[in-house]
Amino acid sequence: MDGEGGSQRRDSDPKRVLLALASRQPVASDAAAPAKRLRKASGLVALLAALGIGATVLAGAVAYQVARDSDAHFLSDQRESLRAAVVEFRALFGQADEVDPRFIRMVERSAGLKALKFETEAPADGREVQPVLDERGRIAGFFTWEETRPMAAALGRLLPFIVAVALLLIVFAAFSLRQLNRARRELAASEELVRRAADEDKITSLPNHAKTLELLDLALAERDGDNVTSFALIELDGMADVTAHLGVLGADELIVAVGRRIKETLPPQAICGRIAADEFAVTLSAGPDFGIETVLRGTLEAIARPHWIDKVVRVSAHAGFAQAPRDAQTRGELTRKAELALREAARKGPGSLVRFEAALEAASTDQKFIHRELPRALSAGDLELHYQPIVAANGGRVVGLEALLRWTHATRGPIAPAAFIPVAEQMGLMDALGAFVLRRALAEAKRWSDLYIAVNLSPLQVRDASIVDLVRATLAESAVPPSRLMLEITEGVLIDNPEEMIERIEDLHALGVRIALDDFGSGYSNLGYLQRFPLDKLKIDKSFVDALGRSANGGVIIQAIVALARALGLTVTVEGVETEQQRVLLRLAGCDEMQGFLFARPAPAKTIDRLLAQARGDTGKTLPAAAGALTA
Ligand code: C2E
Ligand code: MG
Ligand code: MG
Repeated sequence: MDGEGGSQRRDSDPKRVLLALASRQPVASDAAAPAKRLRKASGLVALLAALGIGATVLAGAVAYQVARDSDAHFLSDQRESLRAAVVEFRALFGQADEVDPRFIRMVERSAGLKALKFETEAPADGREVQPVLDERGRIAGFFTWEETRPMAAALGRLLPFIVAVALLLIVFAAFSLRQLNRARRELAASEELVRRAADEDKITSLPNHAKTLELLDLALAERDGDNVTSFALIELDGMADVTAHLGVLGADELIVAVGRRIKETLPPQAICGRIAADEFAVTLSAGPDFGIETVLRGTLEAIARPHWIDKVVRVSAHAGFAQAPRDAQTRGELTRKAELALREAARKGPGSLVRFEAALEAASTDQKFIHRELPRALSAGDLELHYQPIVAANGGRVVGLEALLRWTHATRGPIAPAAFIPVAEQMGLMDALGAFVLRRALAEAKRWSDLYIAVNLSPLQVRDASIVDLVRATLAESAVPPSRLMLEITEGVLIDNPEEMIERIEDLHALGVRIALDDFGSGYSNLGYLQRFPLDKLKIDKSFVDALGRSANGGVIIQAIVALARALGLTVTVEGVETEQQRVLLRLAGCDEMQGFLFARPAPAKTIDRLLAQARGDTGKTLPAAAGALTA
């Protein structure tokens, strides 16, 4: 029942859908485009900066060359003008060592020179000089002047500016490159994050749903020879309660610990992924003799060992697996079959491991059929109730009737409630179905005013607080005294959320109805529940009755349970009594009431009327042993 609830969650889990969608988005490749553009941009900036600096240096070299040539021309022009001026103004010479200063100024101006001086001796520093000849043609002295290079001077003035521009360019390029590189690094880091987000589960860092499927594809493609690829799904039990108990962070911590334990139990080549909130997947390729079942059993055992999350926490899991090529060749088939095996494992209960078998496929086809037909059956009134008498152990008097849902399909015939009730739960039809059963049972209960009516409640119904209103309303409608209604709940529902369940049972009690714990001993069998929950009755499961004939201590166990139940003020009914021998032993064990084919099979209300009338005629409502044969 838990498992069915679990599979419903799986089917509609929005996270699954999102993960599946995410797997189709090429997130990583989209994110790579800006990184490429950034790489190009920094290359371009570096190139431009190098070109700029190169152009500046080249322009400088050209300007230097041009200035040198131009200054050389200028100097030779000056020299030429000086020579001409000296010849032109020779007449103005006085004594050789006393050249008229006017003459000097005139020559200076005419030749465009600076600081022109007449010296009788040639300067020792090798400067350029212009000899001055006297009237007789002898050297009278020398003109010296300050050499000027106007272009070089101009270039000298420009140089700081050019250097500044070049430096600015270098600084700007270096800064831009640094910024671009930093952006590129940041982008690469976020690219890595995106890639990991697309492939990795955030909490456990294991491959996520999409990546797991991708890796399974790869394993299937690479499977060679006799090798077998196993795909296993591992689902944790009752994670909702664990989360309620530990909080979200604690539950995450537990999930990480579980992921680690799974990995520890697997051989190194196995791939473990987390594919849903409480579900892991294992892909493993190995030789045909590899003991995958042993490994997975070890995995389930490892998960079930206590965990320490600030306190001791226990969590169990169940698993299902399928294998290629035995069960499937393609990924789709393999995962579907592993899922079917998982559902079967969920149905079997915590700790179970199921290998896919063809029979599971048939059961799933049945489920599909029920899925399709049940809503129609409900609205068309194809469902009805049968009643099974419950008799007093002492004397065999009928004390109550258990209402049992029956569906007879036009072509398929009778369909068992154990097959269609879980589907009704999955489909959200349980409210309607539950209301139908209560209403019909209470309406028909009027026929048997001195018997109590037992009605089964599905776990889903008990979990929903509105059950209290439904019971109140149907009791009021039918005017049946609440004390005649016995509600049967199963153990599983008590485990899920004990505090809420105690409250729920108390609310139902407050209406005046009684509560029975059905199928006691079939599942979790926790005697602690008897003390913890405000129950009125214990229904011991048929499996205990079956054990009566097989083992010597079967009777002792039932005796112990009866003694405990008595001590807690509960009455005890035993289900599934089929033989006279069982009846005698159970009576000796101290049971209060019995139910089973030995007394009567479930039957429609009219048949029950007849049966009761007959019994009344015989022994005052006492059903003779083997009355079951009458109603069969
Ligand atoms: P349950 O409540 O434990 O009902 C007893 C089941 O044992 C019934 O099966 C009944 O036919 C069967 N049974 C009774 N005596 C014997 C016997 O001597 N030998 C054997 N082999 N079986 C016996 P049924 O009617 O197939 O119902 C199966 C289960 O389906 C019920 O177990 C109950 O859990 C569920 N169910 C039936 N009707 C309803 C309903 O109206 N609502 C809900 N929520 N569950 C229902
Ligand atoms: Mg029952
Ligand atoms: Mg039962």
